[in-house]
Amino acid sequence: MPPPSLPIISDVVEKGFCCGCGACAGVCPTTSLALTLDKYGELKPGLGTGCISCSLCARVCPFLNGNANETTIAQDKFGGQTGLQHNAVTGVSLDAYYGYTHDADARWAASSGGLTTWLLSALLKSNQINGALIVAPTGKSAPLFAYQIARTPEAVMRSAKSAYYPVNVSEVMRTIRETPGCYAVVGLPCVIKAIELARKQLPVFRDRIVFTVGLVCGQLKSSHYSNYLARRVGVTDAVKHACYRKKEHGRRASDYLFQCETVSGQVSRSLPFHAIGHVWAHDWFKVHACNACDDVFAECADIVLMDAWLPRYAEEDRGGNLVLVRNSELDRCLRNGAAKGDIHLEPLAIDEVIESQRGVVQNKRYGLQLRLDLMERQGLSVPTKRSFPSSMGATKAHGIQGLIFKNAVRLKYLANNLTRNAASSDLAPATERKLKMIRTVIRAQTRLASWLGSCPWARADMANLPLERQRCKFF
Ligand SMILES: Cc1cc2nc3c(=O)[nH]c(=O)nc-3n(C[C@H](O)[C@H](O)[C@H](O)COP(=O)(O)OP(=O)(O)OC[C@H]3O[C@@H](n4cnc5c(N)ncnc54)[C@H](O)[C@@H]3O)c2cc1C
Ligand code: SF4
Ligand code: SF4
Ligand code: SF4
Repeated sequence: MPPPSLPIISDVVEKGFCCGCGACAGVCPTTSLALTLDKYGELKPGLGTGCISCSLCARVCPFLNGNANETTIAQDKFGGQTGLQHNAVTGVSLDAYYGYTHDADARWAASSGGLTTWLLSALLKSNQINGALIVAPTGKSAPLFAYQIARTPEAVMRSAKSAYYPVNVSEVMRTIRETPGCYAVVGLPCVIKAIELARKQLPVFRDRIVFTVGLVCGQLKSSHYSNYLARRVGVTDAVKHACYRKKEHGRRASDYLFQCETVSGQVSRSLPFHAIGHVWAHDWFKVHACNACDDVFAECADIVLMDAWLPRYAEEDRGGNLVLVRNSELDRCLRNGAAKGDIHLEPLAIDEVIESQRGVVQNKRYGLQLRLDLMERQGLSVPTKRSFPSSMGATKAHGIQGLIFKNAVRLKYLANNLTRNAASSDLAPATERKLKMIRTVIRAQTRLASWLGSCPWARADMANLPLERQRCKFF
């Protein structure tokens, strides 16, 4: 008998909108789905034998049209709590903070201020959870990182730092189904959305996953990104460990370093972020589904943590976190930690949280509209997304900035496709030449747009806009 046609394969994977979260495989009762890296270095599920057409995989997919969106999920989950405020960009929240752990070693080992590691450890120590689903190095070259279940604070500590590498939750979700207990899950917004959909579908996940810890996400990189970085630091051997966010005394936290170790034990030189900033800013090696993602602040998560990218914190070499809390129990946990002197916590306005992620918000909200348009023109079917008002063209200056922004989004989409289609980590000379040209044009446009933002004519023009729309300026 031919295998059944699954909506997640025909409508999500084959249409290019699978983010590789693995929730479909994690809920499958017959373990018929398995995730593997495709030629683009992105994780995708494939159907094996035994499918009983139960449709569970479809009902938990964060990218399948027709499933609840982030706003609806968040309303169902948090609606009715007292003290909840709503913001169109961040979703709902109880409180916002800047903070970091007072454990100097843990802060130094973390991506930002180490509050994610601290929070999970605190929940384990107080027996509020028996395990945390974290992403940690495997010590192997393939995969370099994987979801694992940490049952001690020491194991949580080994997961410190962000892994810009494809990982999926299928295995750990299967373990949760088989092993009673209370768990917390750390994840990117799409993973947290999938977990929330799974909690709605299956009581076993509703009962056992008691906290979801989101991370703000601008984009995820394919596995080719890590190969590319390894080549940039002169490594040709297989890599067994990669650190994307090494800190250095006296170096601003945002200029973190990449370093890797080969299977033969050779430790590479360090590569600073400023040397590869364009790879992030221009979407090289970005997982294609991220082009269709509109959730910046993990709107379905109980808490979301991010980097403290505000000018007054970004100079700090030890790093810091901004935090949005939506669950009162986690809010209490943070406040208790601060009262005991374990962590530093200071209240912050939501506007400042948004300001810290301005580029990501522009890209995932206003850029999204342009990318969806490009996808339609390419003959791709376009996923249904929440719609967000755009302030493009509200004034003369805004209109010109909007045109520049549109062009930059197009060029970034092109750069993403060029690097995504690169057969291996080595970019062909012709691809390199095209990417160089794209970089030059975007740089010139960015200068023009920022000059426009500072010239008196444009400033006067902008001043006529309500404050809320001024914040949406494009560069
Ligand atoms: C792909 C990606 C994109 C991001 N984009 C942004 C952004 O645009 N802006 C921003 O402010 N912050 C972003 N972050 C979040 C930021 O890098 C930090 O993870 C966050 O500030 C928490 O820092 P911390 O010091 O508290 O974490 P730590 O205490 O260092 O703990 C790190 C935690 O992250 C988890 N983790 C690591 N990699 C992954 C992964 N791939 N998927 C799921 N969990 C993972 C680990 O399990 C661990 O619990 C991104 C993170 C990732 C993984
Ligand atoms: S339809 Fe059900 S059995 Fe078939 S792959 Fe999906 S989850 Fe598994
Ligand atoms: S659930 Fe996740 S891995 Fe499965 S098809 Fe949907 S996006 Fe892809
Ligand atoms: S940008 Fe969206 S789809 Fe991509 S990894 Fe982040 S949350 Fe997932």
